Amino acid sequence: MFSKILIANRGEIACRVIKTARRLGIKTVAVFSDADRGARHVAMADEAVHIGPSPARESYLLADRIIDAARRTGAQAIHPGYGFLSENAGFAEACAKAGLVFIGPPPAAIRAMGSKSEAKKIMEKAKVPLVPGYHGDDQSPELLAKEAGRIGFPVLIKASAGGGGKGMRVVESADKFADALAGAKREAKAAFADDHVLVEKYLTRPRHIEIQVFADGHGGCLYLFERDCSIQRRHQKVIEEAPAPNMDTARRKAMGEAAVAAAKAIGYQGAGTVEFIADQDGTFFFMEMNTRLQVEHPVTEMITGQDLVEWQLVVAAGGKMPRTQDQLRIDGHAVEVRLYAEDPARNFLPSTGTLVHLKLPEEGAHVRVDTGVRQGDTVTPFYDPMIAKVIVHDRDRTSALRRMAALMSETEVVGVTTNASLLRALCAHPAFVGGEIDTGFIERHRDSLFAALAPADDRAFAVATLARLAEWQDREPTAGDPHSPWNEQNGFRLLDEGHDEVRWKDGERDVTVIARRLRDGGLRLELPGGAQEARVQRTDDGKLAIGLGGDTFVATVVRRVAIDGGVDYTLFSDGRSRRLRLVDPLDLSMYEAAGAAEATVRAPLPGKIIDLRVKAGDTVSKGQPLLVLEAMKMEHTLAAPADGTIKSVRYAVGEQVNEGAELVEFEAS
Ligand code: ADP
Ligand code: ADP
Ligand code: MG
Repeated sequence: MFSKILIANRGEIACRVIKTARRLGIKTVAVFSDADRGARHVAMADEAVHIGPSPARESYLLADRIIDAARRTGAQAIHPGYGFLSENAGFAEACAKAGLVFIGPPPAAIRAMGSKSEAKKIMEKAKVPLVPGYHGDDQSPELLAKEAGRIGFPVLIKASAGGGGKGMRVVESADKFADALAGAKREAKAAFADDHVLVEKYLTRPRHIEIQVFADGHGGCLYLFERDCSIQRRHQKVIEEAPAPNMDTARRKAMGEAAVAAAKAIGYQGAGTVEFIADQDGTFFFMEMNTRLQVEHPVTEMITGQDLVEWQLVVAAGGKMPRTQDQLRIDGHAVEVRLYAEDPARNFLPSTGTLVHLKLPEEGAHVRVDTGVRQGDTVTPFYDPMIAKVIVHDRDRTSALRRMAALMSETEVVGVTTNASLLRALCAHPAFVGGEIDTGFIERHRDSLFAALAPADDRAFAVATLARLAEWQDREPTAGDPHSPWNEQNGFRLLDEGHDEVRWKDGERDVTVIARRLRDGGLRLELPGGAQEARVQRTDDGKLAIGLGGDTFVATVVRRVAIDGGVDYTLFSDGRSRRLRLVDPLDLSMYEAAGAAEATVRAPLPGKIIDLRVKAGDTVSKGQPLLVLEAMKMEHTLAAPADGTIKSVRYAVGEQVNEGAELVEFEAS
């Protein structure tokens, strides 16, 4: 076994690999970019080497720097994690040349699966079932269109070099094919410098079921059962579970053996995942093979009781796999959710910022949390915006989902927008709990899933107002002091001199809550839905104990000054979170800013302009696409906020813009 390894990655996967290495008594070397100087994976490793500036292209993707860091620190092997260099055959070769062990498959196996088209050719020979489609070399638009017609619409165009859902287009009918093909090729060229595509039958209600395979250098090749990863957005996984719901033993065996055949066909070694797409009737087809550890590997670890990173290390060091096929069993059910810094209500736009408040579920016998961040860390636009993976293990699926829904309602994040409410809604959704599962689930159930994002209710306004009043109460000892800065502030009347007004903004809605002090020391709040009596007290741990109407409950409220200078209150109570903006009656800049926002379209994230659809003088209607911004490896279409005229376009295609940059000046009509 190795005595020291280098982890060529960051975030939760780097931390996760370090954990196993430490348990096995292996020393670890982390690498880090400028942005990650103070990151958790750096703190966890025994040693850390700085490898360059924040953009991955100048740090985590620099094979030479990483190999050099391994040499200098005396590491014998490199674990690539996932993403970055993990599926780069050239890097695997360079490691070997430098006398380092690449903890992953042989370069030839990576290469064989690197192109989805080539992979399908190999799988065809190995008699693994394929989605009907065309994966040939001829890329002429005429031929591809003809093949699409033969396959039958709807079809899916995919970048052969693709990954992360990029370069994919669903095409409903023949007349839309040419445009979709051009779009897919453009995206593929930009993301992978390779615009080769394949065309497949688009299954309308499929499940994504994948098989974890493993092989060693002693002829051993086995499968560790399946994972169902059908709950997706943007063709990317959000919830994964093992075993797959409604999977029978015969089909499990058939899929497992097909996956093993696939691995054997390319002389595989180490951990790999064969992804299948399955029809509702269970018919399954090969989709692609990921020649690395998979993000969702923990659910497999939970149901099998194995540590797949340990397996990787053992196999890479030349050993035999710790178990044989016959020794593997499925125990209970595991579910993983990916907690992302992103805004489901804005088409899952990534969110960046400092995690000023972070309360993740506590780990225990049933709960595992894989994360790369701590409170105070920053989610930057440079890397994947995943905050944590939360994994639960229970005796059956219903119990696991119930537990997960509860954990998501206890999760508190302030500083970035997250998908926690959506995850909770998913895990508690009767249809999902009942076994309805396919890749269209989120879209189909949008209305019920996004109900959590409905306008704030009276209770939210009451909690925020009580938090605000509690802040004043906290300061009350100084209230009698004529020199107290508090007295000069805001022009608010003192609590005991009648009433106070607190004004909130919930999105576009403006709500004023009036609070009156009652004789008994309680309060009377005039809320949008009517008046309610209330009480508030700070608990020892800084939360608020609230009485409202007939209810009593505890809430956490975090006050934070946002980037634009406004003050936001984030409320956590009753398993829900809500953010309200405090309207300071004396701060007129807020209104000016609100007016200005309507006249310009700003970059929601730092990124690159990759397409401009309008020019100065154009008239546009609300919702019409204005431009496409590439940020955090994804394309974001920015639309007109209202009907109007374009006054000016400030940037050209190819230009890099900062967050908040004014991209298009706009005059609403
Ligand atoms: P998987 O196929 O393992 O489920 P995805 O397809 O969701 O993973 O991930 C898309 C790509 O982004 C993959 O190449 C994955 O390795 C990479 N990726 C996802 N999360 C991270 C992360 N936290 N750090 C680095 N790379 C990541
Ligand atoms: P990536 O490399 O981005 O992971 P995949 O080929 O694995 O690309 O596909 C990603 C997702 O796209 C799948 O999990 C599935 O939801 C959807 N998808 C892929 N192929 C098909 C298909 N033929 N029909 C319907 N959906 C598909
Ligand atoms: Mg995939």
